[in-house]
Amino acid sequence: RRQHARLNAHQAAITCDGHQLEVVANIGGIKDASQSVTMGGEGVGLLRSEFLYLDRVTEPTEQEQYEIYRDVLLELGPERPLIVRTLDVGGDKPLNYLPLPSEENPFLGLRGIRIGLDRPTLLRKQVRAILRASAHGRIRIMFPMIATLNELKLAKQVVEEERIKLDVAPIEIGIMVEVPSTAVLAEQFAPEVDFFSIGSNDLSQYTLAMDRGHPKLAAFVDGLNPAVLSLIKMTADAAKRHGKWAGVCGGIASDPQAVPLLIGLGIHELSVSVPVLAEIKSQIRELTLTQCQELAAKALQLTDAKEVRALVPTVD
Ligand code: PEP
Ligand code: MG
Repeated sequence: RRQHARLNAHQAAITCDGHQLEVVANIGGIKDASQSVTMGGEGVGLLRSEFLYLDRVTEPTEQEQYEIYRDVLLELGPERPLIVRTLDVGGDKPLNYLPLPSEENPFLGLRGIRIGLDRPTLLRKQVRAILRASAHGRIRIMFPMIATLNELKLAKQVVEEERIKLDVAPIEIGIMVEVPSTAVLAEQFAPEVDFFSIGSNDLSQYTLAMDRGHPKLAAFVDGLNPAVLSLIKMTADAAKRHGKWAGVCGGIASDPQAVPLLIGLGIHELSVSVPVLAEIKSQIRELTLTQCQELAAKALQLTDAKEVRALVPTVD
């Protein structure tokens, strides 16, 4: 099966009844970019930009960042889009050159976009590097951990101000949906974004109020929990009503049991880990949209992730 999937890696992911999904990659550096292309990736749905900032004594310069984004775009070629997520660290991962006060609850503290808004020069430098790289391909920007509309407006303002200074064309702006408030208000966020990308790892942790790294609880932090599925549906519905698209870049996008549910809930883009790109595409070619919609409707009626997993066939 795996071999068969690899042989067809470069074919589109279209269901038996003609519904096309975009299958893109989660990457953490330039090497993954070229590999994702080989494995049939149709672009990058999540570039975790943390690798540029971690394990070093000084902040990466704008030029350094620009060159890396440009090189990733050149690997992807002119057609495949690249979504760069701005720096997503928090008090649990302090950087040498970015001293952060220690916090009682780092997962509920200054993290993701909150750091960018708190330290605007850090965010501005990254935004400028992304905007400059836009000359070399289809680059999009995405903000992590957006919880309120005001955060989004402030972050968009930074992009617009730097864009005018650099005198470049607008680029698409999206947000991670990984805080429940944002999924609940997706209808209000949708007019303000070009796309949503659901971070199911954090969305599950915050919905269930269970630490995703907790030794006893992590196993229950499952994006197939119907409460999480319901938030995913709200996000996908709001996107559709406003002519936008919604993707998933959290771990469940790479989980064959979750794939039919996500399609049935109205998700259009799956951003998956590089090694499973071909298999997820191959799985999609064996599904029908109607069957996925029926399955999703049933899953939403259940009460926990275990029941949902029992409902969905496993793929071997
Ligand atoms: C997520 O939260 O689902 C996500 C994709 O982001 P990260 O795993 O980097 O927090
Ligand atoms: Mg996250």
